[in-house]
Amino acid sequence: MLEELQQHDAKVLELEVEAKAIPARLAQLSEDVARVSAVLEREKVQLTETERYRSEQDTQLKHEEQQLAKAKQKATQVKNQKEFMSLQREIETTRRLIGEREEEVLKLSEAVEAFRAKIVSHEADVAKLREGFEAERTAADVRLAALSAAIAEHRKARDLVAVKVRADVRRKYDAIKLKKGRAVVAVKGGVCQGCNMRIPPQLYNTLQRGNSLELCPTCARMIYWDRIMDEQKLEAGEAKPAE
Ligand SMILES: [Zn+2]
Repeated sequence: MLEELQQHDAKVLELEVEAKAIPARLAQLSEDVARVSAVLEREKVQLTETERYRSEQDTQLKHEEQQLAKAKQKATQVKNQKEFMSLQREIETTRRLIGEREEEVLKLSEAVEAFRAKIVSHEADVAKLREGFEAERTAADVRLAALSAAIAEHRKARDLVAVKVRADVRRKYDAIKLKKGRAVVAVKGGVCQGCNMRIPPQLYNTLQRGNSLELCPTCARMIYWDRIMDEQKLEAGEAKPAE
């Protein structure tokens, strides 16, 4: 009965550990979505800023082109050499400015394209992560419901066994379980399966008779002879003894 109690306790613990890990896993996925989304948002801001700067440069360029056209127009109408030279210098300067500006606009256009490509790729990443998160959340809800049902079932089965165990034995079991995790262990070939230590031959003989509740002298767990169940089953005609 104690062994059965322990099996239910172990199962409840195992299922609880699994259930507790689920929200942590979901939180991790949600964090991934948030992180990539934040990167995406930053890139969108950078794109907007770069586009705005390019538009400013474009306006400047148009202004300089108008200036150039005006200066060229004036140059056809000048009366003296000095004025002509001055206009010629203005035309040269404006041409150089236009050349630099065009280069700048080209660079900005390339940057805009690079940001757009990055944004498309990261939008796909975010969509994929979101999809994965949603799928995982749906699966988690189903699994959590199943776990909670299984836990309730094992608790119920445990309680049904527990009421059959003597109260003082149950208290002892609970106390050892609290300290050691596993309270009941088999002794196999004279060796305690809880601490792997050999128990004294005298105690091993006592165990094989199976009339008393004994504790391992080393690890203080409740011990039983591993074949005692087989002997009992044999007596009850339920099963053949194990090797
Ligand atoms: Zn032991």
